[in-house]
Amino acid sequence: MKNIAILGSTGSIGRQTLEVIDQHRDKFSVIALSARSNAELLVEQAKLFKPKYVAITEGDFSYVKKSLQPLGIEVLSGSDSLTAIVSAQEIDIVLTAIVGFSGLLPTLEAIKHGKNIALANKETLVVAGELVTTLAKEKNVKILPVDSEHSAIFQCLMGEKHNWIEKIYLTASGGPFRGMTRKELKNIKKEQALRHPNWSMGNKITIDSATLMNKGLEAIEARWLFDVKPEQIDIIVHPQSIIHSLVQFIDGSIKAQMGLPDMRLPIQVALSFPQRIASPFERFDFLQYPTLTFEKPDTNVFRCLPIALGALRNGGNLPCIMNAANEIAVAAFLNNEIGFLQIAEIVEEAMNKIPFTSHPTLEQYLDCDRTTRDYTKTLITKKS
Ligand code: NAD
Ligand code: MG
Repeated sequence: MKNIAILGSTGSIGRQTLEVIDQHRDKFSVIALSARSNAELLVEQAKLFKPKYVAITEGDFSYVKKSLQPLGIEVLSGSDSLTAIVSAQEIDIVLTAIVGFSGLLPTLEAIKHGKNIALANKETLVVAGELVTTLAKEKNVKILPVDSEHSAIFQCLMGEKHNWIEKIYLTASGGPFRGMTRKELKNIKKEQALRHPNWSMGNKITIDSATLMNKGLEAIEARWLFDVKPEQIDIIVHPQSIIHSLVQFIDGSIKAQMGLPDMRLPIQVALSFPQRIASPFERFDFLQYPTLTFEKPDTNVFRCLPIALGALRNGGNLPCIMNAANEIAVAAFLNNEIGFLQIAEIVEEAMNKIPFTSHPTLEQYLDCDRTTRDYTKTLITKKS
């Protein structure tokens, strides 16, 4: 039996994680659940899965407490509650499904307490990959990828040696605006950007997928998860989202991991590792996909991708600056304050403005994130 804590259980990944656990109640048990504000769903989930701890960081604490305390569930509130629950002794794996920089501190805390991480919250590795992976090594903690591309690479690397890796190909669907020009993108509305062709996900990652920032974040995530050099990572657009990523080895052989786009599979792979367990998910039918296609990403139109690849190459606090500016810019776009193309502009301006540090400490990351958010907000007010 593996004991799981889910940070962000009311979100897209969180809900799908509970579906996976529900199929395998004999193998997984839920120890902790958390959400930011969806108190009703959180209570419903807690009644079904009976965790020991529930944390609500911003929502209706008294409602959650009143509903769950009589069931013997300990209910916590506030942003510190996440760092508090991840250290619980019973927990084996912390699945991080919250969004953005807010995942960093609870993830570090979980690693400090020797908990394995099933990592969906890619921003944590983007911001502070060096710090997080160094601590994980020190504490002998596994970081198991949930992101579908990284799960694919992880699966391709089973049974292989690290120095046999020549190249990693991350596949990208291309998002809803693949093939469009900058002129066509200028007045895109958020409703259009939120309509992803292959995946149903939370709002922030859906916008990141439309700008291709998501693929840039994933390149940085891959650099840290698989300890490869930036030049070993390549991006290829594959609109059908059937090949989830590939690894090319030093003898030229390529392994790919394939399947229908369904996040429950990578979630299950992370939770069940090193075992594989049966699943009822729909199977892939080759005849329904007679053609799998590949193309180059259009980096002139989707500027966030080359910006992120620059941050990957130059390292230091640049990915942290980029991430903070992107979080603020995406929120502003979702709030109809800026246009779609301005997301990349704003991120680039912040990266040019905030001073560079080569090997930041945790304090410096926290400070850099705060400073960048303030700067970006001011920039957006000026522009809108
Ligand atoms: P979501 O918006 O659907 O859900 C986020 C969850 O985290 C919710 O439960 C919310 O209450 C909680 N949360 C958000 N911000 C928080 C904060 N500041 N403090 C505490 N709790 C907070 O997001 P999602 O689509 O499930 O994505 C979660 C993470 O997984 C992201 O980092 C995303 O990039 C990554 N990811 C998602 C998918 C996907 O298919 N959805 C795929 C790959 C990676
Ligand atoms: Mg992904």
